[in-house]
Amino acid sequence: MIPVKENLIIHHRHIVSVAVALPVHDAFSYSVPAHLAPLACPGKRVLVPFGRRRVTGYLVGPAGEPTDKIDPMEIKHILDVLDDTPLFPETMIPFFKWIAAYYMHPLGQVIHTALPAGLNLTDIAILTIGEAGVAAAASPHPSPLEKIVLSALAKGPAGIKQLQKVIDQPVSWALIHQMRQRGWIQVDRQIKARQIRPKTVRWVTVKEATPASDRLSVQRKIIRNALETEGDLSVPELKTRVPTAAALVRAMQKAGQVAVYEKTVYRDPFGDPIEPDIPPRLTEEQAEAVSVMAPLLGQGFKTVLLAGITGSGKTEVYLRLTQAALDKGLGVLVLVPEIALISQTERRFRARFGETVAVLHSGLSQGERYDQWLRIAKADATIAIGARSCIFAPFGDVGLIIVDEEHDASYKQEGGLSYNARDLAVVRARHHNALAILGSATPSVQSWYNVSVGKYETASLTRRVNRQPLPAIQTVDLAHSRDDRGIRRYITAPLQQEIQKTLDDGKQALIFLNRRGFAAFPICGQCGQPLRCKNCDISLTLHKRANAFRCHYCGFSKAAVSTCPSCGSEKIRLLGVGTEKIQEAMTQLFPEARVARMDRDTMTRKGSVVNLLKDLKHRRIDILVGTQMVAKGHDFPDITLVGVVCADLTLNFPDFRAGERTFQLLAQVAGRAGRGDQPGRVILQTYNPNHFSILAAKDQDFKAFYNQEIGFRKALGYPPFSRMIAVRISSKDSKQAAAHARALGENCRKLLAADGPYYGRIQVMGPLEAPLSRIAKHHRWQILIKSPHTAMLHRFAYELILDHRAAPAGRQIKVTVDVDPFFLM
Ligand code: ADP
Ligand code: ZN
Ligand code: ZN
Repeated sequence: MIPVKENLIIHHRHIVSVAVALPVHDAFSYSVPAHLAPLACPGKRVLVPFGRRRVTGYLVGPAGEPTDKIDPMEIKHILDVLDDTPLFPETMIPFFKWIAAYYMHPLGQVIHTALPAGLNLTDIAILTIGEAGVAAAASPHPSPLEKIVLSALAKGPAGIKQLQKVIDQPVSWALIHQMRQRGWIQVDRQIKARQIRPKTVRWVTVKEATPASDRLSVQRKIIRNALETEGDLSVPELKTRVPTAAALVRAMQKAGQVAVYEKTVYRDPFGDPIEPDIPPRLTEEQAEAVSVMAPLLGQGFKTVLLAGITGSGKTEVYLRLTQAALDKGLGVLVLVPEIALISQTERRFRARFGETVAVLHSGLSQGERYDQWLRIAKADATIAIGARSCIFAPFGDVGLIIVDEEHDASYKQEGGLSYNARDLAVVRARHHNALAILGSATPSVQSWYNVSVGKYETASLTRRVNRQPLPAIQTVDLAHSRDDRGIRRYITAPLQQEIQKTLDDGKQALIFLNRRGFAAFPICGQCGQPLRCKNCDISLTLHKRANAFRCHYCGFSKAAVSTCPSCGSEKIRLLGVGTEKIQEAMTQLFPEARVARMDRDTMTRKGSVVNLLKDLKHRRIDILVGTQMVAKGHDFPDITLVGVVCADLTLNFPDFRAGERTFQLLAQVAGRAGRGDQPGRVILQTYNPNHFSILAAKDQDFKAFYNQEIGFRKALGYPPFSRMIAVRISSKDSKQAAAHARALGENCRKLLAADGPYYGRIQVMGPLEAPLSRIAKHHRWQILIKSPHTAMLHRFAYELILDHRAAPAGRQIKVTVDVDPFFLM
């Protein structure tokens, strides 16, 4: 009999569900003691007993969810409420729960991933006593413990750990928050990371009392006149007229002639201030697209795929729809691909909407991220724009979610919670009854398939805004130059001629090759063995500047003067080609030209990308050689030639999306040419001139690509005709990895037994060694599970991985689940 406990629960009636930030999949129920009841609300963190430990968890609502573990005998109290205000709105909890279930990830860890680092107030808060606190200390109001705290803080500010040490007893956050609410103490966050203050500029305004102007110096008169005739001006602006304006303004301010105030300025990645823009007149096509989509706002959930060729003005459509959403009082979330710098899209949103824009991306410091997060949570910002993690922006409600370049691979998070932000955008839109817009010049096969089966609507932009035709693309068959020596193999005569012509016209050229380094394949000239990474079983690449062979997967490095590990020969031949070699060739072939390179090797220092793009923009570079870093999003009107050195590099990856990636990459890089008023040209060198991915990229014709590709996908039952889950097994010990992979494989076969529900509905591939069988000394195996029945696929994976029947994994073995995997390497 357990009457006492039962009674206890009935009396409290306050049992909540808590997701702990540990790798456990259930939420747990806890009771809330009376003194914490007013503080315990969803979205806050709580301290709870868990086994023998005390852990942090997120309060996700009242108890009673079917996933909750409730045992009335066992129910325990919450120990503390850590936050003063919720970290995320309650309306996001169903979204988090959906993610946890779909991606098979513990709810507490889903929430942990969603929140920006630096929200961890408890570690960094500084407590300071206020005037009211000093007064209260002498009054009868505080409790004995509160008095002790106040008198300790009266000696100086302290963190909570420090405070507990000084007074030699524990203090709960609940108590601290209550004392703060009464105004006795202040709780400030000390962000450890360097906090970057917003840039401000001093503006000058004239004071009414005009001194007799003959008492002013000539230069002061100039300043005064400018201010009187043009209104307030900034100090930098005044400096352009009077070089010593800064000092003069200070003197004039002292004399009471002018007043000075600070104004925040937003800057683009180039450090130039962002001026407010005036919306241009829409083209007919843009107006049509807007008029189709704007009425959908506030009318329930819908997804529209906006297919618009490069340079067709998709961003302007996003801006108009954002305006329409704001007019209806709806919040807007904009996702952009993670590129090396904040995107042009962000710049343009800032120019149009100024203060109402919050940004969230990896380029921000922890403090900045935290500030931006709060601005959204407090509804100070109604537009959030950022890379994939921005999908978690703490909007209570959203009316419009835009995903720019929806095909982009950077929306897929690898490792940890492996989510796809593009897919989550549609899910979140459904939760908020919002409109989702997926835009791209090269829509993913998945998204266009959703259009073809009626799940998504579509709108399209088929012409460039500047009425330029798409760049003319000429393919050059590399097979013809296979026997040429040296760099001639890669810089063919047609490419060289076009570059020369571009330089003669005073224009810029972009030379694209999706491989870094100097030579891709060092091979022993004696025995023919390629030099491979000792950790990853992948060819090494020569990096000439570092004078070393390097592995691109784990960073392994080996001196360039190495001998062959198989036969000891010193004759290492270099085959293949990387960006560094192309850059060298450009300098040799065009000695007059200013050549620069953009890849992960040259762009390591903070700010280096910005500086390089600045040089490109200000025409200090004639030829830019680069990897896919140059393919994305940039808009430089003087680039009239794009050269693709070898289009085949991505085509031969062991991955069913290799064709799709190749098509998208080539079409996007070709789209960089001819964005100004000069038409663009593209030279596309390839060993496979008749491959349909390459032919379709030539015409930027994603429908032609899709129509071919979809047939292959269907024949082989690949997505979008099925869904996949990749189970990855890795260990430093090759035998353990193999044994565990086989054990899981055995489990698969048991689950697939002829009398079970999965028979004939689920297909299991593997276990197999992963194509990259070793990365950073870890041996990797994978099992691919595939099925057209989504729910059944998930049930199968749950049984396989989470069920207790699963073979126990040793400590050295890591098993991860990747739902809808993107990279099958
Ligand atoms: P996309 O994203 O489709 O590649 P953008 O939105 O970057 O294209 O537009 C290409 C260029 O055209 C940009 O420089 C943009 O400012 C300009 N643009 C877009 N719409 C208009 C318009 N209606 N009138 C004039 N210029 C426009
Ligand atoms: Zn390696
Ligand atoms: Zn050898």
